[in-house]
Formats: sequence, structure tokens, C-alpha cells
Amino acid sequence: SPYSTYMGRFAPSPSGPLHIGSLVTALASYLDARANRGQWLLRMEDIDPPREQAGAAQQIINSLVSHGLIWDGDIFWQSQRSAAYDTYLQQLLDNNLAYYCNCSRRQLAPSQGLHIGACRHPGNPGSSAIRLRTPNETIHFEDRIQGSQRRAQADIGDPVLKRKDGLYAYQLAVVVDDAEQGITDIVRGVDLLDASAWQIHLQKALGFNAARYCHIPVIVGNDGQKLSKQSFAPALDDSRAIDNLRSALRYLQQSSAPDTITDSAALLAWATAHWRPQDIPASRHIDAV
Ligand code: GLU
Repeated sequence: SPYSTYMGRFAPSPSGPLHIGSLVTALASYLDARANRGQWLLRMEDIDPPREQAGAAQQIINSLVSHGLIWDGDIFWQSQRSAAYDTYLQQLLDNNLAYYCNCSRRQLAPSQGLHIGACRHPGNPGSSAIRLRTPNETIHFEDRIQGSQRRAQADIGDPVLKRKDGLYAYQLAVVVDDAEQGITDIVRGVDLLDASAWQIHLQKALGFNAARYCHIPVIVGNDGQKLSKQSFAPALDDSRAIDNLRSALRYLQQSSAPDTITDSAALLAWATAHWRPQDIPASRHIDAV
């Protein structure tokens, strides 16, 4: 079967507990993996200590377990991965595929914060950000939900791989770890659709395999903003796991499971057997109900 090697993942940042929006993402990636007889890995993206909330990683783990969303293998912690990130950064620098950059936010404001074209403020090791040198070519990829995507170099610019403050950037960590974990299928929120173009450039620069993408709509509150941990979306109530899962399935426009199902494992098995990713709305936003 073409799917026999399916490897999926859920990759939360521990900046707060899970909310209904993150449950929708976790559930979609889980069901897609299980329906394809694949594995589903859990990666804790704890590379940004200033944005971390104490105890959030454990809360996320507890919530997943309470909802029956049990991952395969050991949890992968990005905070343990500095050596790998450094190795790949050095490889990019040695191959002239990355560069030190001292441009400030203010200097990049005329291009909406994107770093496009040659660096006018080249920096030195130690005090500068490191950016990927994206080639001047348009990235094309097919998203299973959002359809055919193209991003020109001028649309995306050169992403930061390591920040001026010494922290590794999400784009680097996610690409290195998706490759290390052998991820074939990335199911995540549509807010990361644009980042996929950067990530594809970086995969190519590092010689990694391409992944399939499936960007699901994000739930927006009545302020029109994505529900997020940083905007203090209410934490999931783990004692209402069944209701939360049924609600997440409704957001994904999956058919509703019989009322006779009253435990998470049985509900997830039913939802796996009836998984229809083609029914997920091909929009960017779903209104919170
Ligand atoms: N850690 C990211 C987040 O919580 C998601 C990364 C990904 O799925 O690629 O938004």
C-alpha cells in the first residue's frame, strides 16, 4: 500500500494548555494517521523558553491521554535537540545556503517584515540572526485541503533559522525534526500554510524528503482571531473528553458517531473508520460555536 509508511505527528508548543482549536488539529492528525494505518508521534516544541508556560507540557500530555489520543513511541522534546540544529545550521553556512544578518524589524518594515533580496546589514557570528538564503524560484505544492499552492521568493523572503538572541527558530527545528522522525504527512492549522513554503525550501537545502501537506482551517473566536494559547482560549476540560471530541468532529464536518458510544477509545475507533478528510471545509476559518 502506498500508505504503509505513513508517519504523522502532533507538534504542540507548550505555551499554554490545549484548547478546542488545538484539539481539532490533534484529532485531525491522529485520525488521518490511524485511517492510513500509520504511526502518530508527539513532539513537544519547547524551543522558546520565553513563550513557555510552566506546567503546560504536562497539561498537554494529560489532556491528550484523557481524550484517548495516545501517541506511538517516546515523546520527542525539541529542547534536547540543539546539537542536531547546530550541525544542520553549520552545514547550511558552509554551503553558503545561510547567512548572518543584522537587519532590524524597522529596516524590514518596508517589505512587511520579509527579508527579500540581498542582505544590506550582514552580521557576524555571535551577534546576528542566521537566515536561509532562499533561491529565486517559486515553490509549488499541493495541499490536500487548501489545494494547489505557489509562493514566489518575493512572497516569502528569507526566514530566520536562528534568532539574534541565540534561540533556534521554529522553521529550522520543525524541518530538522520532521526529517529525523521520518514524517510523511503534516496535518496542522492553516495558519502555517505560508510557512510550508519556507519549510520546503529548507528541506531542499538540507537534502530531506518532501512531505505531504494537509492544512486544516483554524477556529476563530468572535473577534475574528484564531483561538490560541497566547490569546487565552479556555483550556479543555479533560473531564468532558467525549463532548470535546464530538465537538471537534463537528468542526471537521465529520459525521456524528452514535450516541451509544460513551468512551473516548470507542469514539476514536468509530471516527477513524469513518474518517473523510475530503469533508473538511476547504476554508481558512471556521467560526467558534
Ligand atoms: N508548534 C507549532 C504550534 O504549536 C506547530 C508546528 C507544526 O505543526 O508544524 O503552532
